[in-house]
Amino acid sequence: METVAPYQEIIDVIKANGGDAFKRCFQCGLCDTVCPWNRVRTFSMRKIVREATFGLTDIESEEIWRCTTCGRCPQRCPRDVRQIESGVALRRIATEYQVFPKAVKPVRTASASLIDEGNPLSEARKDRAKWAEGLAVQPFTEGMEILYFPGCYLSYDPRLKKVARATAAVLNRAGVEFGILGTAESCCGESIRKAGDEELFRRLAKENIKTFIDHGVKKILVSSPHCYHTFKNEYPEFRVNFEVIHITQFLDELLREGRLTVTGEYAKKVAYHDPCYLGRHNGVFDEPRAILQRVPGLDLRELADARRDSLCCGGGGGRIWMETQKGERFSELRLEQVLEAGAEVLVTACPYCITMFEDSRLTLDLAERLEVKDITEIIQEIL
Ligand code: SF4
Ligand code: SF4
Repeated sequence: METVAPYQEIIDVIKANGGDAFKRCFQCGLCDTVCPWNRVRTFSMRKIVREATFGLTDIESEEIWRCTTCGRCPQRCPRDVRQIESGVALRRIATEYQVFPKAVKPVRTASASLIDEGNPLSEARKDRAKWAEGLAVQPFTEGMEILYFPGCYLSYDPRLKKVARATAAVLNRAGVEFGILGTAESCCGESIRKAGDEELFRRLAKENIKTFIDHGVKKILVSSPHCYHTFKNEYPEFRVNFEVIHITQFLDELLREGRLTVTGEYAKKVAYHDPCYLGRHNGVFDEPRAILQRVPGLDLRELADARRDSLCCGGGGGRIWMETQKGERFSELRLEQVLEAGAEVLVTACPYCITMFEDSRLTLDLAERLEVKDITEIIQEIL
């Protein structure tokens, strides 16, 4: 099979997918100086951009699948090459040709599950609301204050179901009138889009939009910064605008307004990790810190790379589904930074970050020294 597409065809497909910003690149290499890959192995976005400009991309190569869409290099690019969108355009070509290197194959499993069951985890749609069993959680009906959209990982992953349950407990304690969509909820589609399957993203987005409209949803509360990003910045491409709020913003609001009060103490040294899609991509840096600063006894530590310079966990851009070999995982570097900061708890607010950190905590044999928490879990513990 011919897998290296002809020169002009690659350029045409890139253009058709909005990736012609490539040609603005003047090869300064600033992108490579900030890319987290270069802390663990050699990788060059500059080279990917150069090859694409001349239609020389080898779409069989694993290189086009490395970018986690962390957002570091677009901040530095003096020519607005829009590396993320341009890189995604290459993945769309590979998806169109159905060319996937070995490390990327799990993305196809995720796609098949998204098509059949509305989640990437090969779980049954009928089980989507099981996390809420035994809790006071109602189906969403029109007129409720807010729709809680836990997303795929909090609905199914055993570790992350605890976060969904903590969220429901905190909302109930604050007297928030909320509901869930249960089996009518589908994956937001953010990560499969970044992994190059635009058609599937559009299908998932349209399913969710129809469901939101049919249920009279006005305001959506999310736990995942990936759901947040796509509802807020990408669903408007379908000419809809729902009010979207991330759990860290909502908790901050509930605490400030006195609807929620904490009574206990959390006397631990805690480091906060800024998820790329909450912080760098959407500017939510202060609310999570404001919540933690309100917690009695909590000693908040800043990590070496924080806020706009936060170090990616490695799970964005569909990488959550791909295998990254030990020694090349950004999450391992991040845990080292947590230890350097003298913290015993790493707190964050993203299901992908928690998945990556929990995994590295075990592979680095740090289970005794370090806990990984979602910010909501800490609040629930001290209600
Ligand atoms: S977005 Fe992040 S991971 Fe992707 S090339 Fe840029 S710095 Fe590297
Ligand atoms: S920072 Fe921008 S202009 Fe410089 S090499 Fe990277 S993509 Fe090209």
